[in-house]
Amino acid sequence: AFWVGVSVGGLSSFYSELMKGLGAGSRLWELLEREPELPFNEGAVLNEKSFQGALEFKNVHFAYPARPEVPIFQDFSLSIPSGSVTALVGPSGAGKSTVISLLLRLYDPASGTISLDGHDIRQLNPVWLRSKIGTVSQEPILFSCSIAENIAYGADNPASVTAEQIEQAAAVANAAAFIQNFPQGFSTVVGEKGVLLSGGQKQRIAIARALLKNPKILLLDEATSALDAENEHLVQQALDRLMEGRTVFIIAHRLSTIKNANMVAVLDQGRIIECGKHEELLLKPDGMYRKLMNKQSFISA
Ligand code: ATP
Repeated sequence: AFWVGVSVGGLSSFYSELMKGLGAGSRLWELLEREPELPFNEGAVLNEKSFQGALEFKNVHFAYPARPEVPIFQDFSLSIPSGSVTALVGPSGAGKSTVISLLLRLYDPASGTISLDGHDIRQLNPVWLRSKIGTVSQEPILFSCSIAENIAYGADNPASVTAEQIEQAAAVANAAAFIQNFPQGFSTVVGEKGVLLSGGQKQRIAIARALLKNPKILLLDEATSALDAENEHLVQQALDRLMEGRTVFIIAHRLSTIKNANMVAVLDQGRIIECGKHEELLLKPDGMYRKLMNKQSFISA
């Protein structure tokens, strides 16, 4: 899909779509190895007014093209209702990040369907689809340019974003104070050629970026390790604000996220084997969820 973008939209749009696709933490080389499947700017666009942002996986089977003999999903079904928070838990390597890659159409299922408001996402325009989805990953990708540009990058048309909009998003994301402490403020260059940011600061910039994008659907990959206490609180508060009013799907590593989620889905051996609220799932004496809670360490902050 990415290759076609070169001829349709020119190299810069190819690059920007590629970098947007990278938000979920996949590697560049994985994308470059891929064959085009669907012209980048084709496919349906749903009506903005009636758009709900409900997602559904139905009987999805999937293996990575590089390892077709290793099935990741076998009859995977999961419904993610509009405007609610769904937390995904499961053992390491179970395929949690793969769910996000499939939703962004970095890969397509071998069989089964993934739908958005009842429409197979393969029928939808991939650029439009990604414009409706925001991602915040454990290790957000920041570019070697100014903080303002890094935040504006989330918007559909970054060039049209005003300084006020950027500052407002940064304020809601609890990032404004540390940014303003830099002598160059929002013009501070980050990354290899600029200042080094802490993990918590990077995450708050990624949250500001997502706020500016204002997507109906939010895919979050929670950090597996705790930040220092101050960052922990500021990141969590910013995330809570970002999640408000959206369809949220979280790869959960924190106990508080799991407890607050409208639904927890347990992934094991390629399928969702249990689904429900935290307290309900705990009641199942021999349930996988109980075992996971005993075995796997979730961040308790
Ligand atoms: P973790 O909790 O450790 O992050 P996860 O549940 O998110 O794991 P995934 O990252 O989705 O699991 O990976 C599922 C399986 O697919 C793993 O065995 C992984 O090694 C494999 N895998 C991931 N990406 C690729 C790829 N591009 N090509 C081949 N195999 C892959």
